[in-house]
Amino acid sequence: MSLTLEDITLTYPDGDSRLTALDAVSLDVPAGTLTAVVGPSGSGKSSLLAVAATLVTPDQGRVCVDGTETGALSRSERAELRRRRMGIVFQQPNLLGSLTAVEQLQLMAHLDGRRPREVRSRARELLAAVGLADQAHRRPHQLSGGQRQRIGIARALMNEPAVLLVDEPTSALDHERGAAVMDLLARLTRERETATVLVTHDRARLAVADRVVELVDGRVGAPVSLSGD
Ligand code: ADP
Ligand code: MG
Repeated sequence: MSLTLEDITLTYPDGDSRLTALDAVSLDVPAGTLTAVVGPSGSGKSSLLAVAATLVTPDQGRVCVDGTETGALSRSERAELRRRRMGIVFQQPNLLGSLTAVEQLQLMAHLDGRRPREVRSRARELLAAVGLADQAHRRPHQLSGGQRQRIGIARALMNEPAVLLVDEPTSALDHERGAAVMDLLARLTRERETATVLVTHDRARLAVADRVVELVDGRVGAPVSLSGD
C-alpha cells in the first residue's frame, strides 16, 4: 500500500508555448507515512496533488497506487480507483449546506451501495476520530471553519482510502487550529495507515511529517529540515 510518483513532468498550454508546472518530480509515500509538500504559490503543489489523484494526466512519468500503474487505466477505471482507494481533501471542504455533519459522511458511502447501518456507524466513528462526536447533527453554518475542515477530512476517510491527498487544509484557519489539523492528519495517517500527501504553505508543525518536500518552480529542492520552529 503506497503511492509512488516517478519522474513526473506536467506542462500547461501558455500562449504559443507551454508552462512547466512539474519538472521531473519523483515521490515515494509508503503506507502510514505523511509527506508534506511546501513551496511558494505557483510552485506546482496543487498540480502535484492533481496528478497524484489521477485527475490530471502528466506529459511524462508514472503514478502508481498500491503497485498499480494508473496510466494504464481507462478514465472510468481511474474514477473507480479514486472512489475506492483515495481520499481527497480540497482547500475548501465544499459541504452541502442542508446536510448535518454525519449526513455529509454518509452521503459518500451511500453512493457505493453499502448497508446503511454500517455506513452510519462508520460515519459516527470517524466524526469521533476528528473530535466532532458531539457535533454530528449540526449543519455547516452552525460549525466553525476548523470544524468544517475536520468534517472534510473525516469524509475523505469514509471509504478507507489507501491514499490521502490534502491541499492546504489550514489556509482558512488560525495558527492554533491549523496546528491541530496537522496533528490530526498525522495521527490519522498512522492509525489508518494511509499514504498521505499534505500540501501546505504553513511551516508550523511540519515536524509532524515523516518527510518534507519543497517545490520550487515545479522542481523538488533540497531536503527541508524538520525542526518545525
Ligand atoms: P501551487 O499550488 O503551488 O500554487 P499550482 O500547481 O496551482 O501551484 O500552479 C503551478 C503553475 O501552473 C502556476 O504557474 C500556475 O499558474 C500554473 N497552472 C496551474 N493550473 C493551471 C491550468 N489549469 N492551466 C494553466 N496553468 C496552470
Ligand atoms: Mg495550490
